[in-house]
Amino acid sequence: MYDLLLIRYGEIGTKGKNRHVFEQRLQANIAAALRDLGIDEVERAYTRLYVPVKADLEEIIQRLQKVFGIASFSPVMRVPLEVEAIEEAAVKLVAESLRERRISPKDKLTFKVITHRANKGFPLTSPEMNKRLGACLLRKYPQLTVDVHQPQLSVEVEIREHYTYIYSERIPGVGGLPVGVSGKGVLLLSGGIDSPVAGYQMMKRGVEITAVHFHSYPFTSERAKEKVLDLAKVLSSYGGPVPVHVVHFTEIQKAINEHCPPKLMVTIMRRMMLRLAEAVAQRERAAALITGESLGQVASQTMESIAATNAVVRLPVFRPLIGFDKTEIVDLAERIGTYSISIQPYEDCCTIFVPRHPETHPKLAEVERAEERLPMEELMEEALARTEVVVCGK
Ligand code: ATP
Ligand code: MG
Repeated sequence: MYDLLLIRYGEIGTKGKNRHVFEQRLQANIAAALRDLGIDEVERAYTRLYVPVKADLEEIIQRLQKVFGIASFSPVMRVPLEVEAIEEAAVKLVAESLRERRISPKDKLTFKVITHRANKGFPLTSPEMNKRLGACLLRKYPQLTVDVHQPQLSVEVEIREHYTYIYSERIPGVGGLPVGVSGKGVLLLSGGIDSPVAGYQMMKRGVEITAVHFHSYPFTSERAKEKVLDLAKVLSSYGGPVPVHVVHFTEIQKAINEHCPPKLMVTIMRRMMLRLAEAVAQRERAAALITGESLGQVASQTMESIAATNAVVRLPVFRPLIGFDKTEIVDLAERIGTYSISIQPYEDCCTIFVPRHPETHPKLAEVERAEERLPMEELMEEALARTEVVVCGK
């Protein structure tokens, strides 16, 4: 029955001169999300985008619900600018709605017609059109009564320049900004619960993600790596392919274990991770680093620990979960589909070699002194040279 999906965007409509960039990116992202369904044309007109219903409607809806930048969308019928054609379509729309809601001729349903007339050349005004269409529907369906305040069914009619669009449903989008408009960031992606959610939050603000994962084979298994790739794949469903740089971290951990005081191991390990992530960011031309840290969650996430790790990099480090409780992070992880993967029991590199009592208030000078014993350049070069890149998602 529906010809198109009409897509509305929110925040991006307000970006002044950059608006075109935002609109084009959203258009491209929607096309990319639907391409494998055989849909690649996304029409842009004024502040709307239109997608043809050339595949299973439910599947298209599910895909659109994951595209950042969409405020809401509606399956619509498109008809010419003629009153009779509009009436005919509205009758069909209501018939379908009654059927879906299992409303028999004996039942009642309240409704309202809402006309938006952008095309002032159309002969009837919005109130006239509301009246005319309301009367037509009341004649046709005895179940209907008008309720202009809280109708159970809204029949919306948009009269535009070339066509009229008719619909009854507004499906909320995820909001945010189209992925890509805010630049690229390197996400430190562990197999845990937090970092995938951190990636999601930044994608929501328009950041394209490249991930880096530190892998301690053979201390951690191949399966632990697969798990991270699975997480990246879920993230890719919100904004296109996610390359994962799998960095061989084993030698670094061994060296730290051998040369540094146990209580500083975690801090030094984190500093190595950030240094390597920054090197990956340089290669990838990314402008920020992203972690899943949340203040006070563990020893390495106190202010002092964060300060000590942050000190080794120049790029900004975004920590979108810094003010989240664990329960809030878990809720989000469940909603975005990463939780069930994150809780699979494969060990992370952080869980090996870790002392029972890590320092919660590391002193920067002390950490720097301890690090002097490491063959820093050699370790970094070796780890980067053994980095493998796997692109996840379509
Ligand atoms: P997560 O649930 O994301 O693993 P966490 O609560 O376990 O977080 P930590 O282990 O202290 O916290 O890690 C803090 C952050 O450091 C992670 O959110 C992630 O961004 C990064 N990180 C930790 N381990 C790795 C790893 N093996 N590879 C890549 N990044 C990592
Ligand atoms: Mg972890």
